[in-house]
Amino acid sequence: MIGFRKKAESLGVNFLRDRVVGLETSNSAVTRAVLQSGNQLTGDIFLNTAGTWVGEIAAMTGAELPVKPMCRVQHFWRCAHEIEPLPLIKDESGVFMRPEGEGFVGGCPSWEIEPGYIWDIDRGYFANYFEDTVWALIANVVPKFETIKLERSWGGHYAQNMFDGNMIIGRYSDDHENLFTACGFSGHGIMHAPAVGRALAELALDGDFQTLDLSRMGFQRVRDNAPYAEAGIR
Ligand SMILES: Cc1cc2nc3c(=O)[nH]c(=O)nc-3n(C[C@H](O)[C@H](O)[C@H](O)COP(=O)(O)OP(=O)(O)OC[C@H]3O[C@@H](n4cnc5c(N)ncnc54)[C@H](O)[C@@H]3O)c2cc1C
Repeated sequence: MIGFRKKAESLGVNFLRDRVVGLETSNSAVTRAVLQSGNQLTGDIFLNTAGTWVGEIAAMTGAELPVKPMCRVQHFWRCAHEIEPLPLIKDESGVFMRPEGEGFVGGCPSWEIEPGYIWDIDRGYFANYFEDTVWALIANVVPKFETIKLERSWGGHYAQNMFDGNMIIGRYSDDHENLFTACGFSGHGIMHAPAVGRALAELALDGDFQTLDLSRMGFQRVRDNAPYAEAGIR
């Protein structure tokens, strides 16, 4: 990601550290972003790629995107037993694990919690999540993991597309033709990032996809109530 950023900067991209707090519009377009610092940005094209916050930005123009934050917790553990080299492993329960240094990283998304931000994973639902849920799942795949030492756990938030768990790319507002999004990556956005960046640039600058036709990933499927779920990953 740092490499992408450096390359973008070398091509003239200017990164600002600020927060969009409002969008001004004309009849058919977004004209200006109002920033928390008091500065304002005008532009021909606006991209709402605010991750778990895309819904807040969408609301600034009266639009809605079905994306909500879902807390996801990961764990690092060590195992005293010798274990043969492992690849990344993921099974249909959603549990995943991979080697990391002298230990292992993994977790299992919960589908029981309500969407929303959870900033303290040491209390509440996730307080004993590893012991109660994850441990049995990883030991089921690798029996030697019945004897492990959990060293740390940390949380983040998936930008979960509540509609079908898949990305949304393109225009999403009936009223603003220069407003685009790439959002709802639901926990698998890093792997898509280079292709999505190119697709979004083509859509915004050329008016249509050039390299890969990703129109199936557009907001129209939400309007049509036609989910396009990703079967291979949750
Ligand atoms: C625990 C966890 C594990 C994951 N594991 C994987 C994995 O193994 N593989 C994978 O491919 N993906 C993984 N992901 C998902 C991946 O991290 C995301 O899909 C990806 O980061 C989404 O990128 P994004 O650019 O859409 O959003 P983000 O990376 O969230 O970027 C959004 C940006 O918008 C900014 N922003 C928000 N509101 C405003 C505002 N009002 N004004 C200005 N800026 C704003 C934010 O500060 C942020 O910088 C994981 C996510 C989590 C939480």
